[in-house]
Amino acid sequence: MQAFYEIKNVIWVSDSSSLEECSILLASFDFCLGVKDADNNILGYVLKPDSDRVLKFDIKDKCIRLITSCTSKIVAFDDLSTQKHLNKILGSKVKEVVWLDDGNDSIDKLAILSKKNKLEDIYLIEEFKQVVENPVQNLFKKCSKVADANNIPIFLIGGIVRDLIIGRKSFDIDITVQGNAIDFAHLLMVQYPDTCIINSLHEDFETAKVTFLIDDNEIKVDFASTRKEAYDYPAALPRIIEIGCELYDDVIRRDFTINSMAMSLNEETFCKLIDYLGGYQDLNAKVIRVLHPVSYVDDPTRVIRALKFGMRFDCESDKSTNFLEKSCLDSGLFDGLCGKRIKSELKQTFNLNRASVFTNFVERRLYYLIEKNIIIDEVLNNLGEEAEICINDHLNYLEKIDNIWLIYLSLLIIDLDKARIADIANRLYLSVKESKIILQSCELWHKLQDLRGFESNFEIYEFLGGYCNEALVVNLIKFKGSNVVGCIELFLTELKNAKISVNGNDLIRLGLKPGPEFSRILRGILKAKINNKLKTKEDELDYINILINGEK
Ligand code: ATP
Repeated sequence: MQAFYEIKNVIWVSDSSSLEECSILLASFDFCLGVKDADNNILGYVLKPDSDRVLKFDIKDKCIRLITSCTSKIVAFDDLSTQKHLNKILGSKVKEVVWLDDGNDSIDKLAILSKKNKLEDIYLIEEFKQVVENPVQNLFKKCSKVADANNIPIFLIGGIVRDLIIGRKSFDIDITVQGNAIDFAHLLMVQYPDTCIINSLHEDFETAKVTFLIDDNEIKVDFASTRKEAYDYPAALPRIIEIGCELYDDVIRRDFTINSMAMSLNEETFCKLIDYLGGYQDLNAKVIRVLHPVSYVDDPTRVIRALKFGMRFDCESDKSTNFLEKSCLDSGLFDGLCGKRIKSELKQTFNLNRASVFTNFVERRLYYLIEKNIIIDEVLNNLGEEAEICINDHLNYLEKIDNIWLIYLSLLIIDLDKARIADIANRLYLSVKESKIILQSCELWHKLQDLRGFESNFEIYEFLGGYCNEALVVNLIKFKGSNVVGCIELFLTELKNAKISVNGNDLIRLGLKPGPEFSRILRGILKAKINNKLKTKEDELDYINILINGEK
């Protein structure tokens, strides 16, 4: 590997210095900041482009830790280190910061390895043959033909390339066009009028949804134009600043190195991996790494994505990514955010239904994004395992499997008051049904805590009757080990669907006149049935006499 590097003079600052103070120190590109904590330990470094980038946001008073990168391809050295020594180290694959003199004050220069290290070419031909089904392979070849004829570079990009490398079939087919995807979709339609249908065009983003009919298969493909994006404030939706840009600019707007790879679909370079940022190596080493130190400030939903991908692919965030996650959470910048994207990431992450997701979510303090004032205690820390088991045992009772995440969310916020929960529901854009689940879960939790016990099955029936099953499952988890569990289980498995055999016609046949009395009688029968007093329809008919004579 050939190493390129730039030498920067280091200015040492304390980790509590503000972004504004630091930006003044970083006036020139010749300098970088070395960041130290109160005990004089070196935490990492900050480069001018990252400082400039974050200063555009209105967060000048936040501390420099927010964008401090603690590992990278850098070497710190003092003037005594010879150039030869440096070359030797830089010639090897430097991954972590290498402190040539134990990281003390005399270090006054950093060598920052350029990102343009030349890597060997990798072709994903075998992976492509094994993972991609024949009709989809044919589809890619068709696209390739049109792209070549018109001199347009096209790529698979993001998750689909990651999945290809690990041998996982991707459900979404995303093709990125270095140019204009809408124009490309039209070219496809002209070339393949019988097999290619444009479903929709999105002119703001220059994207196209297309369906191909290949060997009796309907294959949906999303075509996107390469685009460059910027953020106007932390957690904003990105603003497009260029469409049809270079592939690199499209790659650099992404979240993690493992999701930043592209694969060429043009014939001459078919299956060639384009990996500007070391995603291939990170994927093999099971590492989640942000693309730059401002990544989480730009888009806090990425911290949830880091957890999701970590759990899904058994990866861990690298030291710097972890540090940035903690710094951002500490800074208050992520407290109680709102937005549909947070909801979508929470949904995907908790729907994995894994105890470790919940435990990590709590331990890593990602709940700050939803609500900072959640009381974390031993009980909450251990709830994940119980939740996973209980949800798996009660999957059939959920209205839909996609509601799992709401159970985990409810467990997190269950102790908050109603107004706070309603506020969370608003901030996360929950639907009426979704809000109902979390509100009911919490209401039931509070009511059940005040309850002394049930006197009869019918009392259980009446008490739990108005609550959705998801709220009941939340409380099964919360009340594990108490008598309440038996009551909820009984309600779910038997009482909830209890039905009586007699109906209004039976009452008319017995000479009763339809009216309010009917519902009193039918309800009385249901009560007796639920309390195990009636077994057969005859028992119910006999019981009507008792009810008419005034007994309850
Ligand atoms: P999967 O669909 O299997 O969950 P994916 O990586 O395809 O994984 P998507 O959410 O569909 O996930 O995103 C597609 C690609 O878009 C990602 O691989 C990534 O490159 C990019 N991306 C998605 N969300 C973000 C984000 N918040 N910030 C930056 N890039 C993102």
